[in-house]
Amino acid sequence: MGRGPRVVLLGKQGAGKGTQAARLAEHYGIPHVSTGELLRAAAAAGTEFGKKAEEYMNRGELVPDDVVFGLLAERVAAGDRVENGFVLDGFPRTDTQAIELDRALEGHPLDIAINLDVPTETVLDRIAGRRVCENCGATYHVSLPPKKDWTCDECGGKVVQRADDTEDAVMRRLELYEQETVPIIDYYRKLGKLEVVDGEGDGDDVFKRLVTAVDSRL
Ligand code: ADP
Ligand code: ZN
Repeated sequence: MGRGPRVVLLGKQGAGKGTQAARLAEHYGIPHVSTGELLRAAAAAGTEFGKKAEEYMNRGELVPDDVVFGLLAERVAAGDRVENGFVLDGFPRTDTQAIELDRALEGHPLDIAINLDVPTETVLDRIAGRRVCENCGATYHVSLPPKKDWTCDECGGKVVQRADDTEDAVMRRLELYEQETVPIIDYYRKLGKLEVVDGEGDGDDVFKRLVTAVDSRL
C-alpha cells in the first residue's frame, strides 16, 4: 500500500470529530493529531503552554496561535512524517491557521477536508450528556456510561464532564465555530478539497461514510 491520506476533519463541537478521527487513524494507520487533546494534555501536565491554554479553554475561547503552533510543532518533531498521512482534528479552525497549514504542508497538500455535518440541536444534546476519560480521552454519554462506576472501560481512568462543557462555554465555542471556522469550510470548497459527510445516526454508519469519502480522494 502507498502512503496514507492527509485529512482535515472539521465539524461543530459534539459532531463526533474526536471519535471518528481516532477510528480513521486506526483504519489508515496514520497519526491522529487533535489540538484539543494536545492542549488538554499540556494543561494536565502543568507545562507553561498548558497553563496559558487552560484559562482560554475553560472559557470556550480559542487558545492563542503561538501556543497552538508551539504544541503542534512539538508533536510533529516527535517523529511523524506529514507526507505519509495524518488526520487533523480541531485544526485548523481559523483562516490564519488554514493558511499556515498549507504553508507547512508545502509539496504534500491535503487530500481532503471533511465537514462532519450535524445540526446544532443534536450537538447540544450530545454535549450536555457527554463525559470523557480524564486519562485517555475516551468519550461516553450519560445514556451510555462505562460498565463500572464512571471508570473508563479502556484504561480505568476517571470519567468526568469536561471543564469546557458548561452551558456558557459551549455557547461561546459554537459561536466561535460559526465566526472563525465556517469560513474555512468555504476556503476548502474553493480549493476543491471539501466533502460534506452526514454525521447523524449510528457511529458505524458515519464511519463508513467517512471512509468512502476519503477513499474517493486517494
Ligand atoms: P471542541 O471541538 O469541542 O472545541 P476540542 O477538544 O477540539 O473541542 O478543543 C477544546 C478547546 O481547545 C477549544 O475550545 C479551544 O479552546 C482549544 N483549541 C483546540 N484546538 C484549537 C485551535 N486549533 N486553535 C485554538 N484553540 C484551540
Ligand atoms: Zn480512559
